[in-house]
Amino acid sequence: MIDAIPRLGDIIDDYCPRCRLLLNHAVASLVDGKVVKVVCQTCHSEHPYKNAEVPEKKKKPARAALFSQVLAKAPAEAEEEPPAEEAPAPPPPPPPEKKKKASPPARYISRHKTRPPRGGR
Ligand SMILES: [Zn+2]
Repeated sequence: MIDAIPRLGDIIDDYCPRCRLLLNHAVASLVDGKVVKVVCQTCHSEHPYKNAEVPEKKKKPARAALFSQVLAKAPAEAEEEPPAEEAPAPPPPPPPEKKKKASPPARYISRHKTRPPRGGR
């Protein structure tokens, strides 16, 4: 890497702060054989050479933390709805599953003609 002396106009990889990507850059400025400035070949913006290193961004908090942040900053919405956790809600009634339409009596089909159908009352 070091043995290849960069020259003006060379295409090198660098991180473009505008594109926020590692992209091709043209060497725009050299000081003592070292690349100082580069021009992004994608957006043509000039910026200091970053040694092709992607800068570490601010660590994004986890989604759960973001959620809690948003919830903490939005008390107005929380006031509209009563807190469900504090109020002991009565247990919900069981879903009326058995209220089906009166269906015709089931016809049991059995492969075993000798055995009676299961659960026959
Ligand atoms: Zn760019």
